[in-house]
Parts: sequence; structure tokens; C-alpha cells
Amino acid sequence: MQAEEVIGKFKAAGALLEGHFVLSSGLHSTKYLQCALVLQHPKEAEMFGRAIAEHFKDKDIRLVASPAIGGLIIGHEVARALGARFLWTERVDGVMTLRRGFSISPGERTLVVEDVLTTGGSTRETIEALRALGANVIAAASIIDRSSGKADVGVPRIALALLDVPSVEPSACETCARGEAATKPGSRKVVSGQ
Ligand code: ZN
Repeated sequence: MQAEEVIGKFKAAGALLEGHFVLSSGLHSTKYLQCALVLQHPKEAEMFGRAIAEHFKDKDIRLVASPAIGGLIIGHEVARALGARFLWTERVDGVMTLRRGFSISPGERTLVVEDVLTTGGSTRETIEALRALGANVIAAASIIDRSSGKADVGVPRIALALLDVPSVEPSACETCARGEAATKPGSRKVVSGQ
């Protein structure tokens, strides 16, 4: 699956908007990314899952693991495509933890999957939590890489598409300086392009 095709699916679903936006952080950006808006379509989620799985089909992956909540849908689709099992980690008092009775077999060959990787922090924390329980983490993957390929998670890593979403303080925003109003994407009604 080519990166252009991935980005095209995001745009068609309203998951990637271009304009002038106030992000939840309060910063301004000319792009807005909300992965959930494309993953709400199971066919797209399945397609991304297969595309990620394609990179690891010869790696004998037995377990796919994702940090909740963002990684749940895509991780599950990757696991389905690889014939592996799937589980997730979640933060308890800020620490990435395996709960719900999930367990790891010693040396279990594991792939960690996120929807959007920004700094790589969630993936790194998930890898550490799984290794502490005996997993053999082979690699990591995401649909989108917002780090321009720079994030180091300590294992080989792939992404279906690179995407830069620069954000600035409102006082430094060039679009504001041109007098154009910014919108909050959450308040926009986005209609699927399909
Ligand atoms: Zn602005």
C-alpha cells in the first residue's frame, strides 16, 4: 500500500483536514489529524492492518500488542491478518501495564502496533512493559509516522505513511497574521467522502 493511498483514505474520511485549526493543545496548525475518523470504517482499518502485516509475514509473529486506546483497532486488524493473538497495554497511574488477565509466554515473538506515532513514547513504554514480562519484541509499526522517521523505539520500525503536522503558538501563527479565523475541528461536521 503506497503512502499516497493511505493519505488519500485519511482525507476521504475527514481524518486529515487542511486549513487553519486550533488543536486540543491550544496550538494552531494548517493540518488536523484524527485517526479515529478513518478507523471508524472497518474496511479501511482492515486494509491498513493487512498492509502493516505484509511487512512481517515472514517474522513468525505470535502476538500483536498495542497501547490503548489509539492502537486497539489497528492492532487487532494486524493480528487478524497475521493469525496472531492480540492484547493491549493501558496506563495505570501513568505506568503502561498489562491488565485484564492477559499473560505473555516466555520469548513470545511480538509486534507492537500504534495508529499514529509522534514521539514513540507509547510504543517504547509498551515494549518495556512486555519485555519485563518475557516477550521477545521483534519490531514496531504504525499507520502514520509524525516523527519524520526520527523516533527511535529500540527495535526496527515501519509506518505506512510519513506525515508532518507542524503546530505553533497562536502568537507565532502565520495564518492568524493574515487575519484568517481558526476553527476547532471537533466542532466541525465532517461528512465521509465515500
Ligand atoms: Zn492561527
